[in-house]
Amino acid sequence: MSELPFHAHLPIGEQLAPPTDGIPYWEICPYDGDLRIKVLDEPVLPEPPRHGEAGADDCNCTKSPDERVIWTDGQWVVRHMGEPGTVPTVMLSSVGHFDLSDMPAEVAATMGTMIQRLERAVLSLGGLGRVHINRWGDGGAHFHMWFFGRPIGMMQLRGTCLPLWEDVLPNMPHDLWVSAMTAVGEALAAGGGEARPV
Ligand SMILES: [Zn+2]
Repeated sequence: MSELPFHAHLPIGEQLAPPTDGIPYWEICPYDGDLRIKVLDEPVLPEPPRHGEAGADDCNCTKSPDERVIWTDGQWVVRHMGEPGTVPTVMLSSVGHFDLSDMPAEVAATMGTMIQRLERAVLSLGGLGRVHINRWGDGGAHFHMWFFGRPIGMMQLRGTCLPLWEDVLPNMPHDLWVSAMTAVGEALAAGGGEARPV
């Protein structure tokens, strides 16, 4: 197997023709009209370090552990995004500094319960059809997972394009955002842990 087995079929440096079907033509795509496809760049190796890659001392978990926290139980922490978004959005992180692949087994073992509790807490806001859960991990080395509440009935916001819609739609009113973030923290605290004021 090649040293880079998943690169050989990628058309790096080539201008691709627009697709004749696919996501740009689906109702969930926020963009309409003529789109061009970006040319793929050569791979960057080694990759540049992510935030916190050098360890806890280089990470917000040490520099500003209480920032934007709406709930914590000492093992998991839920944060708001610092300002209103289009939809209710919160981030779940481990308190300890690790990523998923090096997460201690005793922490990883509680993740399923934690994800379920947070989904239920977001759904308890009402008016939401689904909670989208995303984990990318390309920006920060400290394990974190995104939870987006999709407004019920908004069928164009289904699926993978919701973060793209977030980029183009107006944000919710500040008062609504504060009450929603407070309610998520309090809903979690009803099952244990401690809510923090927004
Ligand atoms: Zn960290």
